Amino acid sequence: MIIDKQFEKETFKKSVRDNVRFLFRKTLEEATPQQIFQAVSYSVKDVIIDNWLLTQKTYEEQDPKTVYYMSMEFLMGRALGNNLLNLTAYKEVKEALDELGINLNAIEDEEPDPALGNGGLGRLAACFLDSLATLGYSAYGCGIRYRYGMFKQKIEDGYQIEEPDNWLKDGYPFELRRPEYAKEVHFGGYVRVEYDQEKGENKFIHEGYQAVKAIPYDMPIVGYNNKIVNTLRIWDAEPIVDFGLDSFDKGDYRKAVEQENLARNIVEVLYPNDNHYAGKELRLKQQYFFISASIQAAIVKYKKTHDDIMKLHEKVTFQMNDTHPTMAVAELMRILMDVEGLGWDQAWAITTKTVAYTNHTIMAEALEKWPIELFSRLLPRIYQIIEEINRRFIIEIQNRYPGNYEKIKKMAIIYDGQVKMAHLAIVAGYSVNGVARLHTEILKNQELKDFYEMMPEKFNNKTNGITQRRFLLHGNPLLADWVTSHIGADWITDLSQIRKLAIYADDEKAQQEFMNIKYQNKVRLAKYILKHNGIEVDPRSIFDVQVKRLHEYKRQLLNILHVMYLYNQIKQHPEMDFFPRTFIFGAKAAAGYRRAKLTIKLINAVADVVNHDTSINGKLKVVFIENYRVSNAEMIFAAADVSEQISTASKEASGTGNMKFMLNGAVTLGTMDGANVEIVEEVGEENAFIFGLSSDQVINYENHGGYDPHVIYNTDGEIRQVMMELINGKYSNDTELFRDLYNSLLNTQSSDRADTYFILADFRSYAEAHKRVEEAYRDERRWAKMAMLNTACSGKFTSDRTIQEYVDDIWHLDKVKIDAE
Ligand SMILES: *Cc1c(COP(=O)(O)O)cnc(C)c1O
Repeated sequence: MIIDKQFEKETFKKSVRDNVRFLFRKTLEEATPQQIFQAVSYSVKDVIIDNWLLTQKTYEEQDPKTVYYMSMEFLMGRALGNNLLNLTAYKEVKEALDELGINLNAIEDEEPDPALGNGGLGRLAACFLDSLATLGYSAYGCGIRYRYGMFKQKIEDGYQIEEPDNWLKDGYPFELRRPEYAKEVHFGGYVRVEYDQEKGENKFIHEGYQAVKAIPYDMPIVGYNNKIVNTLRIWDAEPIVDFGLDSFDKGDYRKAVEQENLARNIVEVLYPNDNHYAGKELRLKQQYFFISASIQAAIVKYKKTHDDIMKLHEKVTFQMNDTHPTMAVAELMRILMDVEGLGWDQAWAITTKTVAYTNHTIMAEALEKWPIELFSRLLPRIYQIIEEINRRFIIEIQNRYPGNYEKIKKMAIIYDGQVKMAHLAIVAGYSVNGVARLHTEILKNQELKDFYEMMPEKFNNKTNGITQRRFLLHGNPLLADWVTSHIGADWITDLSQIRKLAIYADDEKAQQEFMNIKYQNKVRLAKYILKHNGIEVDPRSIFDVQVKRLHEYKRQLLNILHVMYLYNQIKQHPEMDFFPRTFIFGAKAAAGYRRAKLTIKLINAVADVVNHDTSINGKLKVVFIENYRVSNAEMIFAAADVSEQISTASKEASGTGNMKFMLNGAVTLGTMDGANVEIVEEVGEENAFIFGLSSDQVINYENHGGYDPHVIYNTDGEIRQVMMELINGKYSNDTELFRDLYNSLLNTQSSDRADTYFILADFRSYAEAHKRVEEAYRDERRWAKMAMLNTACSGKFTSDRTIQEYVDDIWHLDKVKIDAE
């Protein structure tokens, strides 16, 4: 390990004391915990800056190809602890701070969670940046510096309340403002066409626009123990005109106000929708804003050291995380033609070798489609370019399928007055990837079948992954140390090593140690629950956990209906031998998603009744953890026995929560959906609890008008009883409160089909799987073996593996090494 000199105890202690003095004019003894957090962070940042400069210098010398990972979301989580671990200085700093009477864990808790993302998609981007730096690849994350990230969730009277997340209020120590790299971004106006006599071609001139200044803030991305520091570059917006009284006449004044407002609004807040497209104008502005600034910056950087723009793709690649950054296609075309002076064919040749697309969902409500009147008004030149891409693509379709208008209807980029962003991304991208094997197969054979037929060579799979450095090394230090003591520390950068643990799966002593660590992590979570929820839970009970965004397809409703069913069972069969269970939920619902918010209320209503029923002797507890986010996620995964991954088969593209649980020795209770399929393949069916319809069965039902839940309702009395309890006042004095949830399962009055997500269809199979969980858990040795094998078989699901596959198959980056001095 290479530990920087600045982390030697006396040096570091002095640095912290100095920072408290310089920053706050206080002594260490007078400083608040937040001020100490800031001071410690600046001391750490000092070291990072040296490595950051060293990395830049090395990149300049070696000129490696660079990936720009374009994403509307980066769900980073806290940086301090993770940076210290990746600098391999965590223990030194902890000890140094101990000597100052400061507890590092408490200081870590002072950091706001930079929550510039919703859920899985944003967290994936964060894991990818960690892996890229650790593997030694030149990479930028490109995104938006939202003033307000994902809202803070409060639960009041069982209901979700959203509060603004003012994460910048105390200043964020791990960012660096870079005004020297500011770029202008243009909105609105019109395109004037001018004929260039000399060249004999048209020139397109964008005029009458409003301009916004994009200012980058850089955050360091520290690689593990390799001196590499990459950059997450997020853009802030500022008005361009100074608002001086002397400089305006009437016309300028109005424009100045507009530009000021545009700049103020554009980066104000993250849209809190997960897997759902809302079609808001401001969202389109956000997309173009960060794409234009990022692509301009990338081209400027490339041109500083390269003179042939036709070779851009040899040094630069843009990966589009979902369709949100798809504007990159047209923006790159615009810059190549209007700024660099290339013709269409040349610009297209470069663009289609430089941009690549990752698909994250097949759900219709998540597919981005922008009305052409909105699009063309806001981005006239970009729209014009997309129209031309569409015109040429339709000719291609016609050549390939003469007279087949169905094909045009299904594949056109612009159709029925809408721009279909996924189609643009597929047509222009040199790679189209899904995020788990099953998901990619569904793309190829169902959702994107026509595209796959026309351009099969573009399609490939990259099963998602997670970084073991945050989700084991940082989140579960007890287990991390135990793993290291058994197989050495190589797993930290090579998770395939973790399979070596399998030889201990039958070893009684190892089993006891493993389960004892799980128990201690459960105690840690139980304390957190007591503090935050005032609920006492028994760490000897089964911790059965479902934490993820609240969404109908993720079926938290199935989980809580089953809890209601178990409660009935306990009440009706008091003689029954029932192993104590704690059901733990954590989930934010999009602020405008009524049914999701009602599900949160139901979970809390059930918790209220069950937790207060003394007649069941604490056999069943229900906990809803408020404000689920990366920082408490780390603790939750470490404490889980059972990982609930129960999406309707075919709906979850991959999932990554499932992988974090597995790594921490929780056993999956899930459907054959997303990456669950590959998890079961790695760990073996006997070490997971699988239930429910297959994706083929679900898709088959859907293609034939759905299924009829009434048959189940009418024939299964116990399910019917649970259903009745939604509307008979058992969980709310207001018998109408949960009517919508009841209706969603049975009535077809809305445009939805009854039970769109096959909850009743899967209920019995789910309840039976829970029975198997209980039985397995009673056998302590069997469970310990299962849990340990889950950890041992999780090697495939590191984002290091995912990133290496992106590098090998899509990006073709050069590996960089920095020699330790
Ligand atoms: C991993 C993660 C997610 C994604 O969870 P899924 O179960 O894959 O949907 C969402 N939010 C946070 C905070 C995470 O850490």
